[in-house]
Amino acid sequence: MVKRFKACKECSALTEANECQLCGGDLSRDWQGFLAIIDHEHSDIAKKMGINTNGKFALKVRE
Ligand SMILES: [Zn+2]
Repeated sequence: MVKRFKACKECSALTEANECQLCGGDLSRDWQGFLAIIDHEHSDIAKKMGINTNGKFALKVRE
């Protein structure tokens, strides 16, 4: 069910749209790992991945 999402190759954000809603980057259907950031200011994994907003992200995105 989450596989209907596509992941941004630039920032790993997941979206159902045709381009990334955060940065406008290219999307890939080949991604792994579902990550929901609900409090990015207090999330270590968000800091590690350079995520500075709340939302749904992929842990790994392939070209
Ligand atoms: Zn993006």
